[in-house]
Amino acid sequence: MEFVSTRGGARAGAAEAVLRGLAPDGGLYVEAGLARRPFDWQSCLTLSSLGMAEKILSHLLPGFEDMGDLVRRAYAGKFETEDLTPLVGVGEDYMLELFRGPTSAFKDVALSMLPQLITAARRLEGVTDEILILTATSGDTGKAALEGFHDVEGTRITVFYPDGGVSPVQRAQMVTQEGRNVKVCAVRGNFDDCQTGVKAAFNAISASGALEGKGLRLSSANSINIGRLAPQVTYYFIAYAKLLGLGRIALGDPVDFAVPTGNFGDILAGYYARLMGLPVGRLICASNANRVLTDFLATGVYDKRRSFYRTSSPSMDILVSSNLERLLYLASEGDSALVRRLMESLNREGVYTLPQAPLEKIRSVFSGFCCGEEETLEVIGRLWRERHVLCDTHTAVAFSAAWAYRRQNAGGAPVVVLSTASPYKFPGAVLSAIGGHAEGDEFSQMEALERLTGVPIPRGLRGLRDKAPLHQDVIGREEILPYVLAQAGRQEV
Ligand SMILES: *Cc1c(COP(=O)(O)O)cnc(C)c1O
Repeated sequence: MEFVSTRGGARAGAAEAVLRGLAPDGGLYVEAGLARRPFDWQSCLTLSSLGMAEKILSHLLPGFEDMGDLVRRAYAGKFETEDLTPLVGVGEDYMLELFRGPTSAFKDVALSMLPQLITAARRLEGVTDEILILTATSGDTGKAALEGFHDVEGTRITVFYPDGGVSPVQRAQMVTQEGRNVKVCAVRGNFDDCQTGVKAAFNAISASGALEGKGLRLSSANSINIGRLAPQVTYYFIAYAKLLGLGRIALGDPVDFAVPTGNFGDILAGYYARLMGLPVGRLICASNANRVLTDFLATGVYDKRRSFYRTSSPSMDILVSSNLERLLYLASEGDSALVRRLMESLNREGVYTLPQAPLEKIRSVFSGFCCGEEETLEVIGRLWRERHVLCDTHTAVAFSAAWAYRRQNAGGAPVVVLSTASPYKFPGAVLSAIGGHAEGDEFSQMEALERLTGVPIPRGLRGLRDKAPLHQDVIGREEILPYVLAQAGRQEV
């Protein structure tokens, strides 16, 4: 029983934690003793990218067998480069390209691996039911999950997206998805309607036991699953190994990372790498105009009672960063009573204040910076003009944070900026930021961006406009439950 809930109410082995996702008491699964368990991080750095993934995942998810095989199934031949995440020099610093997977977003790194972990967990736990993944998406997660789960034995996946609420490219990516176990359905309303509807259907089915004896069990692919967090630890090691190989650092030297942050999964994986011994220096938490984390790191007060801004970096438009709960637990030495209190306060009052000791511990590693809309576009323009580096809006927010940190810490460790999406996923914003004219639909903008920069459109996005849509369902929010049950071969709860 390696994992406990951050709220204290449950224990589980790694396979059970992966199958459940969320602990029964609403907490997130964490391993309290991770930092004390020895890990040979030095020899890990000598391996190939897939070798590192195997070694790291075996350590973080004890009990899984044949991890090497699972890793190969997840990644081999699916990413643009064999090393998974290329490192690019940008002046004194670096950019780690996490978007070279099949859907051109960094969520591919985790969502390519999660289906393999779920099927392996199913075998380990002796579960014969098929796993039905229900996901509500505001864009990127849906496609990455479809790409990860399609045709994976023992699983089915249904993705719901807000009708008219995702970009044309994101919609095209999803509705053209092939695979015998996939369904994609638009829901009338906005993302919140969609997500609330999916959660309600999920809870109604779980509470009623409607699927029991039907050979099907529900699960979700969202980012609080430890099976999504663990694969993200790998690329911190990949970046470090590359800097060693370049002679930019010596073994043991610190490296800082700037991370465009929404749900806090990506940056938390960096903290996990640090707990495993990797010399991760500072973790620079980059936010857009939704600066709830910047304020939290500055004051210790997490306050979601504020305006919500729609920005050009939509995957970071988040006021409740779910994975932060894991950091609260780890920084408070496993004080689950405290975490439970804070989360209740956040739910009821919309705010909590972290006590001084855990706050200081968090601040000894994390720094927070935020960046407004205008500056985001300025950063994209400047990187293109001065360095010939083309980056997307999320990555630009992280560059802005990295530079702000550098201004306070000149001559420090090298900073690696995590680049989370291809510029071609946000062609309109990127095009206007570098002085082009964002006219026509997103597909025309992609082509214009390619003509202007010479940077090739990624394989998965090219030709999307001409692909036939395979999924045309549009339903109301209240129809989500019957829709799922019909798929499961049952009419009512
Ligand atoms: C999801 C996402 C993020 C935020 O990552 P978290 O792990 O949720 O903090 C940043 N950029 C892009 C492009 C994303 O899709």
